Amino acid sequence: MSLSSGCPRCPAPVLHTDGRWSCPDHGEVAPLWRPDEATYDAFGDHLLAADGFPTLTCWPLGPGWSVTDFAVVGAEPGRTRATMSCISGTSAQDGPVDVIVVTEEPGTGLGARVAGTRHDDPGDEVGEGPPMVKIRVDHQPLSLWPVSTSDGSQEWDRSVVAGEAGGRWLWLVLRPASAVLLLRPDWVLRDLSSVGPGLLEVPFGGPAPAW
Ligand SMILES: [Zn+2]
Repeated sequence: MSLSSGCPRCPAPVLHTDGRWSCPDHGEVAPLWRPDEATYDAFGDHLLAADGFPTLTCWPLGPGWSVTDFAVVGAEPGRTRATMSCISGTSAQDGPVDVIVVTEEPGTGLGARVAGTRHDDPGDEVGEGPPMVKIRVDHQPLSLWPVSTSDGSQEWDRSVVAGEAGGRWLWLVLRPASAVLLLRPDWVLRDLSSVGPGLLEVPFGGPAPAW
């Protein structure tokens, strides 16, 4: 297995005793599984661990873009709580850009960690007033609202938008912050576990973002 375990809410290693996983700071958690390096083989392990829980990412990848990171939260197959993917490339306006997508059950905390926000879930801003942009998850429309990161502990180097689909939170974290202007209604999120043999064409690797 090419994935290492950790806490979904913080960088601490988790302890595995008597079938339970625990973080020294967060108590019992569903473990986060993340590769040391984003490779095609590690992504195969990721898909096995995710066990059908979607791993959404922006699709198709632009020329020169690659999948630089992914992770899954779950104690065992069938009990997946969250996934994340990151694609990285460049845009003419922003230079190097990371686009992270987190799909999670409410209360998991991975999206908030990646986004650098204080609360587990995106909060009241989502669903209030008109959405900032509507994109699609496959053929379904997805409305996204901006999520304030000003009360987080990190510097303002990213933009966060979030919405809800099928009872799960969808977070998009874009670095640098100006990359949020790349969001357009023609953006599509696709489940990488449904790409099939086309996955062989997907470039993996490159520097993963810090989170
Ligand atoms: Zn923790």
